[in-house]
Amino acid sequence: MAIERTLAILKPDCVRKRLTGEVLRRIEAAGFKVCALHMQKLSRSRAEGFYEVHRERPFFSGLVDFMTSGPCVPVVLEKENAVNAFRTLIGATDPAEADEGTIRKDYADNKGENIVHGSDSAENAKNEIAYFFGEGRIPADHS
Ligand code: ATP
Ligand code: MG
Repeated sequence: MAIERTLAILKPDCVRKRLTGEVLRRIEAAGFKVCALHMQKLSRSRAEGFYEVHRERPFFSGLVDFMTSGPCVPVVLEKENAVNAFRTLIGATDPAEADEGTIRKDYADNKGENIVHGSDSAENAKNEIAYFFGEGRIPADHS
């Protein structure tokens, strides 16, 4: 299995609950290398662009409200098989359905406010990393 990158976002509930450090600690303890991170407050259009595939879903406007409700932290992560390994670490979208020991099981309140995002395919990871970390935004030794 090759070394791969994925995009995580520590969502606004994670930052608000002062879990930024704890969640990053769990991610690093699971063997991921943090390549880049950048706390920022998303505008509506940036959040809408990120979740464009969900535009027609009934939860879309609530999702955008939530993702713009405070600062979040996009993070570029690297590990063997990173995309799938990270999805396993965070658990199911709905914390009620997430496996024991996953980050969402331990910290998320509900399906809407679920602490962390993880890319769901290698192709999406590439696009999502580029969405937040353009040319020169990943430190040289990690680029
Ligand atoms: P993410 O893309 O944030 O990592 P995911 O891939 O597990 O989550 P998606 O199906 O891509 O889940 O949904 C994107 C986000 O939209 C979810 O993380 C959640 O915050 C929100 N969401 C999805 N389904 C619902 C729903 N039924 N009700 C409320 N919010 C939802
Ligand atoms: Mg998703």
